[in-house]
Amino acid sequence: MAVYDNKMTNNSTASNSTVDVVLIGAGIMSATLGVMLKELQPNFTIELFERLDVIAAESSAPMNNAGTGHSAFCELNYTPQLPDGSIEIKKAIKIAEQFETSKEFWAYLVEKGHLGNPQNFIRKVPHMSFVWGEKNVEYLKKRREALVKHHLFKGMEYSEDREQIKKWIPLVMEGRDADEKVSATFMDIGTDVNFGSLTSALIGEMNKKPGVTVNLNHEVNDLKRNADGSWKVVVKDKSTGTKRKLNARFVFVGAGGGALHLLQKSGIEESKGFGGFPVSGQWLVCNNPDIVKQHEAKVYGKASVGSPPMSVPHLDTRMIDGKRALLFGPYAGFSTRFLKQGSLLDLFTSIKLNNILPLLAVGRDNWPLTKYLIQQVMQSPADRLNALKDYMPNAKAEDWDLDIAGQRVQVIKKDAKHTGVLEFGTEVVSSADGSISALLGASPGASTSVPIMIQLIERCFKNHIKTDSWQQKLKQMIPSYGESLANNEALSEATRARTSEILGLA
Ligand SMILES: Cc1cc2nc3c(=O)[nH]c(=O)nc-3n(C[C@H](O)[C@H](O)[C@H](O)COP(=O)(O)OP(=O)(O)OC[C@H]3O[C@@H](n4cnc5c(N)ncnc54)[C@H](O)[C@@H]3O)c2cc1C
Repeated sequence: MAVYDNKMTNNSTASNSTVDVVLIGAGIMSATLGVMLKELQPNFTIELFERLDVIAAESSAPMNNAGTGHSAFCELNYTPQLPDGSIEIKKAIKIAEQFETSKEFWAYLVEKGHLGNPQNFIRKVPHMSFVWGEKNVEYLKKRREALVKHHLFKGMEYSEDREQIKKWIPLVMEGRDADEKVSATFMDIGTDVNFGSLTSALIGEMNKKPGVTVNLNHEVNDLKRNADGSWKVVVKDKSTGTKRKLNARFVFVGAGGGALHLLQKSGIEESKGFGGFPVSGQWLVCNNPDIVKQHEAKVYGKASVGSPPMSVPHLDTRMIDGKRALLFGPYAGFSTRFLKQGSLLDLFTSIKLNNILPLLAVGRDNWPLTKYLIQQVMQSPADRLNALKDYMPNAKAEDWDLDIAGQRVQVIKKDAKHTGVLEFGTEVVSSADGSISALLGASPGASTSVPIMIQLIERCFKNHIKTDSWQQKLKQMIPSYGESLANNEALSEATRARTSEILGLA
């Protein structure tokens, strides 16, 4: 991870009291938005504030997320089975399309020489789903039949043949009960993404541009609307304790788990009723290089009944800073912190008069989640090993160490019917005038950072985006902009072929 001087860089914005854009947080979301805005409007002045002394140390850090380039090739929670037995693939198509858009933007930056070697942040790793038991095998077969008809999922292989599956994933098949019915799908063009490296490369690039200042060790403590509609941002330099106020025409709260508190401080009407529910994660990390090298896939299974979507277990090949790794998880945990390096009071201080009813309603209606979390928290090392053995029957405790993953804050929001609902996706909350926007939630997260930020730009920079220069630039950055990769097979195939070539995935 790149480390920047925590003092402001000596450029034009440092002494100004008003900037065009303040970005809060040095994760993948702020990094993506900052680079996009600077491409679209090179004369924008931008200040980024990060409370930690490094870039991408919360959810975007490689060990804090699973590094899956979510394309819905392997994640079974994106393709639910409907009561009539058919498989719903709408969400899968949307996610696959969104990831193609992300790759388009990364390819544009790689071609311009802005991100260095793409192998530092993206690699081809097959995406597989693996299930056992009659009912699940039937489900996976139907899922593949439904998906493979769509061009975004062309080439997805399916097998119930144990020998074939063993060729794909020997560790998953060795030691498995010979009578157990199993099946798997295999998608060769899956990816593993180091979102930490990508974030560092993006912020490094942004920081080279005139008018950009990256401030590490600076915590944003308050946000107040000025009479002219701009924002007063109060920032504390954590190394000196001094406070500084600056004005921003636009603020992006890309503070991950810290976003809810800042959104609440902004007092915008649109923030009312939002709450957060933290779920922490853990991985088992393989410490035996002989085992690590025998597995070459991201293998996603089926979440157990009643458990939340982000708990889907997976056995994952990862490339982290040039080193190959093998992880299994996530196991869920409970902490009242909203950031891994946050405060134990985070959950309690987020409770306000305007969100208490939605919070209580979610507590009332989500007993299966509560039960699941209690079970997870109570797990012994033997329980965790048993969960791993479902995917790798010959696993031995001594080959695996427990590590802490990132902290997710699931979004709770007002709902007319249920008073409050728990969401597992991401939510962009913007003020009506588009002067402030915050990103809440975590899934499918970093993989969709590019389309999410495009939508945010469309919402908050309404006048700019109509101009020819922004439209032309958007088309350069994302050649499929304004068209549908989901509906246009020829465009989708040409786009995928082009980005694969540039990103070294061909
Ligand atoms: C266990 C787990 C697995 C995941 N797996 C995947 C996956 O496989 N694929 C995928 O695409 N996504 C995955 N995600 C989601 C993905 O990691 C997130 O969506 C993404 O990293 C969020 O980026 P961000 O920039 O919003 O937040 P972050 O990366 O968390 O960055 C927010 C930054 O804001 C800073 N900050 C907070 N408060 C303040 C403040 N007041 N002032 C200044 N700075 C502040 C924080 O220190 C932090 O650096 C996973 C997440 C988790 C937790």
